[in-house]
Amino acid sequence: MNTVVEQVRIREGGLPGSASAARADARARELPRGLGNAVPIFIERASGAILRDIDGNQFIDFASGIAVTSVGASHPRVVRAVQEQAALFTHTCFLVTEYDGYLGVAQRLNRLTPGDHAKKTALFSTGAEAVENAVKIARAHTGRAAVVVLDHAFHGRTLLAGTMTAKYKPYRGAGPAATDIHRAPAPYPYRWPGGAENAAEQSFARLTEMVETQIGAENVAAIVVEPVQGEGGVIVQPPGYLSAIRDYCTRHGIVMIADEIQAGLARTGAMFAVEHDGVIPDLITTAKALAAGLPLAAVTGRAEIMDAIAPGGLGGTYAGNPIACAAAIAALDVIVEEGLVDRARRIEELTRSALADAIAAPHVGEFRGRGAMLALEIVHPGGTRPDAETAAAIVARCHERGLLVLLSGTFGNVIRLLPPLVIDDDLLLEGMGILAEEVRRADELATA
Ligand SMILES: *Cc1c(COP(=O)(O)O)cnc(C)c1O
Repeated sequence: MNTVVEQVRIREGGLPGSASAARADARARELPRGLGNAVPIFIERASGAILRDIDGNQFIDFASGIAVTSVGASHPRVVRAVQEQAALFTHTCFLVTEYDGYLGVAQRLNRLTPGDHAKKTALFSTGAEAVENAVKIARAHTGRAAVVVLDHAFHGRTLLAGTMTAKYKPYRGAGPAATDIHRAPAPYPYRWPGGAENAAEQSFARLTEMVETQIGAENVAAIVVEPVQGEGGVIVQPPGYLSAIRDYCTRHGIVMIADEIQAGLARTGAMFAVEHDGVIPDLITTAKALAAGLPLAAVTGRAEIMDAIAPGGLGGTYAGNPIACAAAIAALDVIVEEGLVDRARRIEELTRSALADAIAAPHVGEFRGRGAMLALEIVHPGGTRPDAETAAAIVARCHERGLLVLLSGTFGNVIRLLPPLVIDDDLLLEGMGILAEEVRRADELATA
């Protein structure tokens, strides 16, 4: 069977098509409604930057399964690595008997992450699990409990990671939250009351004031920051902000944790997004793009901090699964050998010029992001009031035309663009053309 999908968009008939629509009842009956869904289509196969659904529609993928398939869907090297490893062995549990794939991923991450100090890596299965373990390691290392997180942060949906996530709805449930999580104001330059140019300095001052008046710096184990806040709305931390956090952590013996689960591994046009600011965190969490779709996550950081947990305290039954490790080694090698860091920068250039008119449209409050992690913030014309309704309408029209884009943002009004880094120029520009038309159409409808 030829499983490769030609890199062309195909859209016919209604959305969802009849085959996907026929599954809607079963989905509603069999699955809880808490499982959200951006587009009600069922996928048959995918390659590169195209997803093909069971009705034969082919979508240009500007979602990458939420920044996961950076090397493209089913990259041949990833597929081969997975097939070969599955045939050899699928699982031993690394805590029982060991294998080279785990070491190979750790070696790569220890070298690729910024800083030439001694580093160690522990593997997990999900992003939330990596975040939880980074906090656990920081608390063990410092003997302190308090953790500072930011407004607009997203760190996952488990109890601790969900408590660390800013947005209450839909991410947190009823009942007690995890304790000793403290939320500080985050810059969000576009919306900072004192103006974008003052966002870094003023928000950092509010953070340190909060720490010193409400917690005590000597009680803080970690400050956790996404260098580009993904779910929060693709908010790039302004110049000087990450280095201010870095200096403050160093001064007070606080562990700086960079959550690079979405922004890391070439997505922003640097291997890690902190590199844009020349900042070296103590711990870095990775996941999403790490194993190109297989469940794998990691905490990488200073060897002496990583060693704070006693033997047996880290890991998990599936953590660092051998098939996921094989996929990660292939994906990391593709990222390096195919020059995907540079490719992400090129995607930003092409997108900026393709969207130049759309960016100037009255509904677009801001175009922002880095590399291939880009976004349009949709607002009511003439001000900054979020317009989630128009953003949703634009996204729905894009889906209708065969372009997958995602909504994000604290106010649900940010159209997020996360194409696979291997997307070819023509397909990228075709997708951006559709988006630009739909942004303009929304403006025409609003002014009509
Ligand atoms: C997606 C994400 C997580 C959570 O990862 P899961 O694998 O969904 O648990 C954590 N942090 C950031 C920045 C993310 O984007």
